[in-house]
Amino acid sequence: MRRVYVDNAATTQVDPEVIKAIIPYMEDRYGNASSIHSFGREAYDGLEKARKQVAELVNASPREILFTSGGTESDNLAIKGVAYRHREKGKHIITSSIEHPAVLETCRALQSQGFEVTYLPVDNEGIVKMESLESSITEETILVTVMHANNEIGTIEPIQEIGQIAHEHGAIFHTDAVQTAGKIQIDLKKLDVDLLSISAHKFYGPKGVGALYKKEGIVIDPIISGGGHEKGLRSGTENVAGIVGIGKAAELARLRMQEDSKNLTHMRDRIISRVLSEIEESYLNGSPDKRLPNNAHFRFSGVEGESLLLSLDEKGIAASTGSACSSKKLTPSHVLMAIGLDEVQAHGSLRLSLGRRNTIDDVEFVCDTLVEVVGRLREISPLWKRKDLAAPYPHRGALSNA
Ligand SMILES: *Cc1c(COP(=O)(O)O)cnc(C)c1O
Repeated sequence: MRRVYVDNAATTQVDPEVIKAIIPYMEDRYGNASSIHSFGREAYDGLEKARKQVAELVNASPREILFTSGGTESDNLAIKGVAYRHREKGKHIITSSIEHPAVLETCRALQSQGFEVTYLPVDNEGIVKMESLESSITEETILVTVMHANNEIGTIEPIQEIGQIAHEHGAIFHTDAVQTAGKIQIDLKKLDVDLLSISAHKFYGPKGVGALYKKEGIVIDPIISGGGHEKGLRSGTENVAGIVGIGKAAELARLRMQEDSKNLTHMRDRIISRVLSEIEESYLNGSPDKRLPNNAHFRFSGVEGESLLLSLDEKGIAASTGSACSSKKLTPSHVLMAIGLDEVQAHGSLRLSLGRRNTIDDVEFVCDTLVEVVGRLREISPLWKRKDLAAPYPHRGALSNA
């Protein structure tokens, strides 16, 4: 059966060139990067090359790149690292209500340790309300953390403006760029960003490895202590093979970004225009223009997202209702609730996230299948029929009198 993977916001296929780069570091170059001998030096050289490759992707200096076990750890290190280091200055943190759980739950954990957290509201496209940021930021605010782009609905946030406001008030600015790294240009020499999280497996690298950019001069506390690796900020023998993998993935992402982005945008727009024109009562969630090049997120009246996913899966299509992390829960997505959807609308949503390996053929197949499956589900949907009955048709009074 034909299988089409359109869940690239959850994870991506490791690029064959990345696999090729990793293998020698599992076979022959297995040294511990801290060892003095030639095996150790080989591993160390692998780490430092990767540091340079990751730095180049975001236009930072290699000294500003720390390796971690992924996006979740980078977010934890940035947020807890600032909180613990700067708690004497203030105990207030500002974030948004649509962050990834790696940020939201970290903030919640800090709340239970006496920090105060403001969760900024967003508008119905998912863009953070700047007036709320302006009115909540004070001298006590030590950290503002707002994601670069949302993993569910794909909305790109105005991080430059947010960073500027944070800096005007003496706060440190962190952004979770896990969904944007490798997809849209990030120039840290120009952006007002102090800390930035990325994760390899979202841009064709291996799982379990990420990086945190920390601007020169920003001080944070470690959250993992031990032998003092990564300048004392992330102890533990480095995952050399994984780090070589994120380095190679970063290099490929940088070289292919323009072409990838053009292809992804073209495919995304084709999906959006076909779905909205061929499926009645279908709506695009998120922003029409401030949107990741690979994200299409819809809601369909009278259809339940989970049933839609299962039906698509039967046809070989791998999609998602939102975030992979919350897809096993039955509570509606906090992101969809934050943009003003009600529970039923939130449960009728579907995320299609494209990747480098998708083709326009895949896109047509996904659209054809979606049209068919939504139609079939609606035929048997009590929601869809009840909606018809509830509509203010002239015959309704007559029916209820009968
Ligand atoms: C996937 C993701 C993370 C978590 O990264 P892991 O490497 O899986 O821990 C964090 N933030 C966002 C926005 C993500 O999409």
